[in-house]
Amino acid sequence: MSFLSATLDRVKPSPTVAVTTKARELKAAGRDVIGLGAGEPDFDTPDNIKDAAIDAIRRGETKYTAPDGIPELKQAICAKFLRDNDLTYTPAQISVSTGGKQVLYNALMATLNPGDEVIIPAPYWVSYPDMVRLAGGEPVVVECGIENGFLMTPDQLEAAITPNTKWLIFNSPSNPTGAGYTRNQLKALTDVLMRHPHVWVMSDDMYEHLVYDGFEFASPAQVEPGLYDRTLTVNGVSKAYAMTGWRIGYAGGPEPLIAAMRKIQSQSTTNPCSISQWASVEALNGPQDFIEPNNAVFRRRRDLVVDKLNAIDGITCPVPDGAFYVYPSIAGLIGKTSAGGVKITDDEAFATALLEEANVAVVFGAAFGLSPNFRISYATSDDALEQACARIADFCAGLT
Ligand code: PLP
Repeated sequence: MSFLSATLDRVKPSPTVAVTTKARELKAAGRDVIGLGAGEPDFDTPDNIKDAAIDAIRRGETKYTAPDGIPELKQAICAKFLRDNDLTYTPAQISVSTGGKQVLYNALMATLNPGDEVIIPAPYWVSYPDMVRLAGGEPVVVECGIENGFLMTPDQLEAAITPNTKWLIFNSPSNPTGAGYTRNQLKALTDVLMRHPHVWVMSDDMYEHLVYDGFEFASPAQVEPGLYDRTLTVNGVSKAYAMTGWRIGYAGGPEPLIAAMRKIQSQSTTNPCSISQWASVEALNGPQDFIEPNNAVFRRRRDLVVDKLNAIDGITCPVPDGAFYVYPSIAGLIGKTSAGGVKITDDEAFATALLEEANVAVVFGAAFGLSPNFRISYATSDDALEQACARIADFCAGLT
């Protein structure tokens, strides 16, 4: 019998981490690789947030905390939910974890039994299906194609629901597509959920603040208050506050669920980092005025990448509403052969050949459950993006 758990057979390592690691290795080996794989802002954490962390260290806030968050942070999160999302939560309804990732993981671990199904619209954030499998559940993937802007339709949702459905994982704006649901589009989905009272919603609002062209973010329990008692509203400081390394995520939801998540967390990480929690208090309570200028930069980069990619024969790149990713289709390139002799049979072959022959690292679409596409993260300098797009254009021009 294997020493390793059979659970491992059900999951794969994160492909986005694999691409980033490979790009880093090639760079270290002297190759001039442009990495467009990593999903993190290239901005630095604002100084007021760093200072709050330094103050916390000096005050001696360096001990274990309550398992799912210090009261000051829970208060700041309640105020944020009310301010931004019209959602009223009490501190007992708030859970703080080591990143949004752990929030989602705790919630799935706390609720899934064998046979429970979780509806995941594809393309999806790479971790959702594997986290569901790790927690013993079954991912039910619903393919949402480019023809409908990568959005799930109410009919698709209705058709995916079975008596075993426990959760819908909802993510808007989305990683990897940047597609966002308008209030009306979201209401059409919540209307379906209102007809199925056994289905809960895990809303991953991580990219809430990264929206462009006046797109108005909305969250399910905000759009349909009737879902409040079966919604977990998940968010975090990683993306909007350029705090990926601080590892703080949080959620608001029904008290029994929050208590169950606390129990899981108390037996894994005990509590999120005390210093990062104090930094997050400042992030949420402090000035929010750097978000707009950061978004203006992201928007400019989005437009640059979308324009350049759409100018390439065989690539179609929709304009995203938010986040910092584009998810172009390469349907027009499948079947061709690269200058280096590689047959582009699918998006993985495309991404591999692009890295080998053009020194650009992107993540292939199959990793996100919808092909043939690839994901570019445009959270990097204009210069790098210009160069990367030129290399992609050359590579594609060399396909025969
Ligand atoms: N959800 C989505 C859609 C993401 O893209 C990410 C990070 O890439 C996360 C959740 C997790 O973020 P963190 O654990 O840094 O809060």
